[in-house]
Amino acid sequence: MEKELRSVQIPEFTTVRDLSTILDVSPIDVIKELMNNGIMATINQQIDFDTAAIVAEEMGFEAHLPIPEVEATEEEEAQPLMVRLLAGENPEDLEPRPPVITLLGHVDHGKTSLLDIIRNTSVQEGEVGGITQHIGAYQVVHENKRITFLDTPGHEAFTAMRARGAQGADIAVLVVAADDGVMPQTREAISHARAAHVPIIVALNKIDKDNANPELVKQQLSDEGLVVEDWGGEVICVPVSARMQIGIDELLENILLVSEVQEFKANPNRPAVGVVVEGKMDRTRGPIATVLVHNGTLNTGDSFVIGEVYGHVRAMFDYRGQRIDSAPPSTPVQILGLSSVPNAGDRFEAVKDDRSARQIALGRATRQQQTARPVVDLTLEKLFEQFQTGKVQELNVIVKADVQGSIEPIVSSIEELSAGDIGVNMIHRGTGNISESDIMLAIASRAIVIGFNVTADTAARRQAESEGIEIRLYNIIYQIIDDVQKALTGMLEPQYADVATGHALVRAVFRVSRVGQVAGCYVTDGVIMRNTRVHVLRGGESIFSGQIASLKRFQEDVAEVRMGYECGIAIERFASFEEGDIIEGYRKERVS
Ligand code: GDP
Repeated sequence: MEKELRSVQIPEFTTVRDLSTILDVSPIDVIKELMNNGIMATINQQIDFDTAAIVAEEMGFEAHLPIPEVEATEEEEAQPLMVRLLAGENPEDLEPRPPVITLLGHVDHGKTSLLDIIRNTSVQEGEVGGITQHIGAYQVVHENKRITFLDTPGHEAFTAMRARGAQGADIAVLVVAADDGVMPQTREAISHARAAHVPIIVALNKIDKDNANPELVKQQLSDEGLVVEDWGGEVICVPVSARMQIGIDELLENILLVSEVQEFKANPNRPAVGVVVEGKMDRTRGPIATVLVHNGTLNTGDSFVIGEVYGHVRAMFDYRGQRIDSAPPSTPVQILGLSSVPNAGDRFEAVKDDRSARQIALGRATRQQQTARPVVDLTLEKLFEQFQTGKVQELNVIVKADVQGSIEPIVSSIEELSAGDIGVNMIHRGTGNISESDIMLAIASRAIVIGFNVTADTAARRQAESEGIEIRLYNIIYQIIDDVQKALTGMLEPQYADVATGHALVRAVFRVSRVGQVAGCYVTDGVIMRNTRVHVLRGGESIFSGQIASLKRFQEDVAEVRMGYECGIAIERFASFEEGDIIEGYRKERVS
């Protein structure tokens, strides 16, 4: 039986030594294998991919070249991703495609109601009676033109997609309740749409209400820099009522108008690329995903990869639950035939055949294991290096503060700072603690997050850590300005944080002559090292920090003790252990 080959990525050129590391074999074996193939090579000799692939195959691996990551330049990033996707296309191959719309706005301002009413009144004219399914997106036909709506309203979903490198939508409809006006999430939504460089159309909802005050809302919007047309600006504002079904046609008309101006296009005659809108496990049908095709056409039977997920389209359904065989650009389709459930926001790509799909997906999985690094690694200090190499010309900043009153001075002082060609770009400002939504926006816009007199939610902190986003917390305005200034001029002192290496629980306390007090401990996680610094934690707080004086297993001095083992620990100049104390080993690590 043919042996299953393990997938491995090998660069175009590599040395014998590096190849042996990649394959996790001895360099001698690699040299022997090369000799078997008539190639005499030394350990530091460079070999090309084809040669390396032969050796790899002999050793049970299937080699392929790394998939090039397309890194967008700053300039390109100022364009929506959908536009960038077309960069390699011949303009003659491009055809108009339906716009993809997302509804953003404050909670309870009527996003869901509007989505429902649009769906119910306008779904596929002439196909009345079809029961629409919630698959994460749907299409309507208005004046014989299609419009695609994303069904998950709110900027969190929109930005989560962008944070994963996918374009959320072409146009953002900002829903503002005419009786409630601009609220915190309205402001957030505006920032998120702006950061994504998508046009905004305002839907002024609930105009049926007695206390609706459209003029006041327009005033508030202009305070946010969204000047509506009848105030002399360029932002389209449509008064609507989801409840009374007022203004829905006008809203759709205006969406089509903006689309015409923007000329959304795609090449339908190429393999499909798109984004996952929703993924789930269905008890009878297995993993299912709703995919929105951005470019190309997806056909039943096409092989595809989505991150580390692969498969081929066994069947496709539209938002009415009807089976279809091909999905042109901007079409949302539910697909069956995936190896597992993908995440919303993951890139979808049709590929040549099942074999390539599998290889690419497995290659990504391997690479993911090899380089478990944060997706974005952005700190105030590192930015300076990027400024210097010309990779970044703008410092993107998100500011969260306790009260509105402190935001203005911070923002205006930061905006005044600029060093040479480098500008400071305020992506979002708001009151309240730093939330996950802020971090998503930071990831999507490569921004740093500054907090003034606020903290970061646990979830936000965790996410920032795993994604390599820097949160800087301050309670003195001057220090913010100072740090940003220093970052812009490369003067910022690195910051260090204590990183725990392991914990040991004190189970008993002894007195030992000449040593003093010794704690009989059990290492609960990580490792405790002889040369490490430790905190003594009691009731969750550090009551002492110092150096380990002795570390023993039974009577033996040891260099380290790992999780699951017992040991005796003495700490220099500390003699007040209590049972239940936790000894935390830590090292200082540079965080910026
Ligand atoms: P979302 O949180 O933005 O999705 O808001 P919803 O669509 O859930 O709407 C919040 C509330 O406002 C619900 O009770 C709706 O019935 C109500 N609502 C939505 N649109 C209108 C409208 O045009 N007029 C009135 N009077 N109420 C509305």
